[in-house]
Amino acid sequence: MLEIKEKTISVNIDTSKCDTCETKACAAACKKFARGLLQITDGKPSVEHLSADEVLRLGTECLACELACKFEGNQAIKIDVPIEGLDDYLAKRGLA
Ligand code: SF4
Repeated sequence: MLEIKEKTISVNIDTSKCDTCETKACAAACKKFARGLLQITDGKPSVEHLSADEVLRLGTECLACELACKFEGNQAIKIDVPIEGLDDYLAKRGLA
């Protein structure tokens, strides 16, 4: 499992699903729609070429890798987007 922390989100990648992925669509989407943080190393997405500070500075939180992986890859990416107050808001409206 690879966890990438950006400013407000966490990108979690189950890299055990990547060996059989033929598209590597996550890295292509990252390059096309963001700043190309994700690179494929030994068949898996990686940010090892960047420091933690560089990941924070360059990350655009665009979510493109998750969508690309969902539709063209092996559904290995889940992005956690915490929204402060959302649980209270939903509970207040009976939606929790
Ligand atoms: S698209 Fe998904 S399954 Fe394919 S290499 Fe990227 S994260 Fe892994």
